Amino acid sequence: MGEQKKMVEAITSMEEDFAKWYTDIVKKAELIDYSSVRGCMILRPYGYAIWENLQKILDAKFKETGHENVYLPMFIPESLLQKEKDHVEGFAPEVAWVTYGGGEKLNERWCVRPTSETLFCEHYAHIINSYRDLPKLYNQWCSVVRWEKTTRPFLRTLEFLWQEGHTMHETEEEAWAETERMLGVYADVCKDSLAIPVVKGRKTEKEKFAGGVATYTIEAMMHDGKALQSGTSHYFGQGFAKAFGIQFTGRDNTLQYPHQTSWGVTTRLIGAIIMTHGDDNGLVLPPAIAPIQVAIIPIAQHKEGVLEKARALADRLKPNFRVKLDDSDNSPGWKFAEYEMKGVPLRLEIGPKDIEQNQCVLVRRDTREKVIVPLSELETKIPEMLAELHKSIYEKALKNRENRTFTAHNMEELKKLADENSGFFKTMWCGDEACENRVKEEVGLSSRCMPFEQEHLGDTCVCCGRKAEKMIYWGRAY
Ligand code: AMP
Repeated sequence: MGEQKKMVEAITSMEEDFAKWYTDIVKKAELIDYSSVRGCMILRPYGYAIWENLQKILDAKFKETGHENVYLPMFIPESLLQKEKDHVEGFAPEVAWVTYGGGEKLNERWCVRPTSETLFCEHYAHIINSYRDLPKLYNQWCSVVRWEKTTRPFLRTLEFLWQEGHTMHETEEEAWAETERMLGVYADVCKDSLAIPVVKGRKTEKEKFAGGVATYTIEAMMHDGKALQSGTSHYFGQGFAKAFGIQFTGRDNTLQYPHQTSWGVTTRLIGAIIMTHGDDNGLVLPPAIAPIQVAIIPIAQHKEGVLEKARALADRLKPNFRVKLDDSDNSPGWKFAEYEMKGVPLRLEIGPKDIEQNQCVLVRRDTREKVIVPLSELETKIPEMLAELHKSIYEKALKNRENRTFTAHNMEELKKLADENSGFFKTMWCGDEACENRVKEEVGLSSRCMPFEQEHLGDTCVCCGRKAEKMIYWGRAY
């Protein structure tokens, strides 16, 4: 117990200092390490394994929906980046430039891709000629670089891992449908695999992607009530296609511009998992992405037969679950604390008494509820408990969001609510950017999204009092 206490004491309590709690966890759970590269992180095996699991789930969904993976260069020559005016203006402040190569100054600067629209478009101009070439449903797994001023592991790093979908369609309807479909894929993965409830909606003009027509977003609420933009899906219309001269011969034999989308999620989602489900003992991982789903801890492992039994159990469970047997000489208390810190969904304890009775103890990470399970029933009991854990951490997160979602009808109400609470604030909004700016300046809230599921909260804008038809969510965001 002494050792267990020591490990737990090492992280700051989340109520005391949520930001410190977060940085403690990413280190203590061995997700990342820092290096001499500012704003970038070393993903350690445990952190990278979470990304790999998430990647597998997403990649399977992309393929189910007809997408193919490709890989493009990591550099973009300046002249190419500049082809779409709004795009370059939006990204220029965050771009890293390569000016030298092999000791010689380059004739033209190259940027390290902050996103790859321009390269995809250059390529699409080569390969799209006829309506028969459409749709093109491409995705790329890679890292991108954005020169962020302030950074935080997973949430905002200079270099981050992501996927970027880039698709081209014959018709506008098809491209809009794709934009919505992929946002839906993200929302479903968040709910079904990460146990994170999200609000699906559209970004304001001010917050949309540089060069796009519309940005859809999934917004999640973290434990502390702050918002996290967890993924985006953009409808581009024909803007990029025109700038890059991408044309195809249509069914009616006329030359047309295709309609485009792009969509992405990043390692930020790991930050979302940490801040949605974690507690003062460490991470709590949703089973679908947990690198270890069941940690087997032998009790009194020096006693005859214990380790053998534990090893046999691990071998038996391995085909169906991600299992780790910890037979190190750390004490059981130490091991309990370690796997709690790492958010392993289930702990399986087995000692001499259990072996005598052909049973073991299963302990849930989130509730720490213990159940004694006959060894013969493990194959049914483990998935049952994993599913229950998933369901209850999802519901807990949803409840947190519901408890922290407030309605305001005018600026006074909004200010008072925002002063006293952290969360989502829903209001009506006229659609004018001036009002959006005023809410930011006077209340300190940014617009999160106009949810697809609209509610009628009144007839007038929270800010200017003019007629308003749109309901919008505001919040403080990471
Ligand atoms: P975007 O291409 O700008 O739409 O970005 C796609 C998604 O990447 C956003 O919705 C964020 O969730 C995420 N993201 C943006 N910037 C960063 C960053 N610096 N680090 C990690 N994730 C990021």
